[in-house]
Amino acid sequence: MKPTNRVFGGLGTTVFEVMSGLAREHGAINLGQGFPDVDGPEDVRRAAADATMEGPNQYPPMLGIPELRQAIAGHNRRFYGLEVDWRTETLVTSGATEALGSCLMGSLNPGDEVVLIEPMYDSYLPIIRLVGAVPKVVAVEAPGWTLPREKLAAAFSSRTKALVLNSPMNPVGKVFDRDELGFIADLVVRHDAVAICDEVYEHLVFDGLPHIPLMTLPGMRERTLRIGSAGKIFSLTGWKVGWVTGAPKVLESVAKAHQFLTFTTAPNLQRGVAYGLGKADDYFQDLAGEQQRKRDLLGKGLARIGFDVLPSGGTYFISADFRPLGFNGTDVDFCRHITAEAKVAAVPVSAFYDGEPVRHLARFCFCKRDEILTEAVERLAWHFGR
Ligand code: PMP
Ligand code: GLN
Repeated sequence: MKPTNRVFGGLGTTVFEVMSGLAREHGAINLGQGFPDVDGPEDVRRAAADATMEGPNQYPPMLGIPELRQAIAGHNRRFYGLEVDWRTETLVTSGATEALGSCLMGSLNPGDEVVLIEPMYDSYLPIIRLVGAVPKVVAVEAPGWTLPREKLAAAFSSRTKALVLNSPMNPVGKVFDRDELGFIADLVVRHDAVAICDEVYEHLVFDGLPHIPLMTLPGMRERTLRIGSAGKIFSLTGWKVGWVTGAPKVLESVAKAHQFLTFTTAPNLQRGVAYGLGKADDYFQDLAGEQQRKRDLLGKGLARIGFDVLPSGGTYFISADFRPLGFNGTDVDFCRHITAEAKVAAVPVSAFYDGEPVRHLARFCFCKRDEILTEAVERLAWHFGR
């Protein structure tokens, strides 16, 4: 037989699946893959359950049910002052993963260059390569995850079609500030490119920092595809309901990609999410407050053991340098070691690199029950004799 697809045929299984499998095998607490261990709000789940029983449970409209698309427009207005026409500027997808795939496939031609910032979420590059586009990757620099502005500017060229920006940033929890976003927006506008903004952690920003969509910066409204995910906003990661907000000129071909990838998304879940996006402001504040508290609980515990814990301003994740513990292997060795021996799983940060990776950091997920986080810290402390 002839070879399978050259991009996917050569890929391994994602690090999340691998580490979750290893965690199960060793009976470890899974602080690897990012998902909460308590399901999201009962009223949101109830709304989806009622919608399941009331029906219809048939194909909803390709772009999403009006109720959810209106709620997405309302969410953009409420939190960011973005005026969005729900009829022409919103698209519901099956998770942010599908949104990313549809945005990349709908925007890129073979040979187009795409600027990305690493460490980065692992679904971006395979899709970019699949369509024959060319990634230009720039790394933020540890320990502060500083944006190397000259390198970023140098990554843009007349062939740049798109920039992918993830803020708050998985895996390192960097939240881009207004000054950095201004610098990035200027590059995107000057090169007449489109920005594909992965903002799935928009409501998981801590320490009073603002989440600033790149779309709100001057010149960006018409050239930004802004991606959200109900999985993160409502602690329902298994639902896989996502969406894209964008001007008709950039969104139209994204919808064409979507119609042949998934065509649509479960209608009952769309109804649940439409209800959820209408929740009062305090829901969104409490979500961030609660996760910030968990970040601190785990971060302090890891620091007590002797890890050098890096700051995290957002997401579900905190990363920690394990070298002060005297561990000499790579981050992959370390994560496998603690999964098997301490019975706590984490994810190696090197998995989020295309270029030369940082190999001394483990990413820990903190969106777990307090007693689980405490138990994980106790297990690690015991294992490392602290
Ligand atoms: N982007 C980032 C940065 C993520 O961490 C995730 C995690 N799940 C996704 C996209 C995918 O989101 P979804 O589950 O809605 O597909
Ligand atoms: N986004 C989650 C993480 O970074 C995992 C998503 C997945 O398993 N594909 O851990």
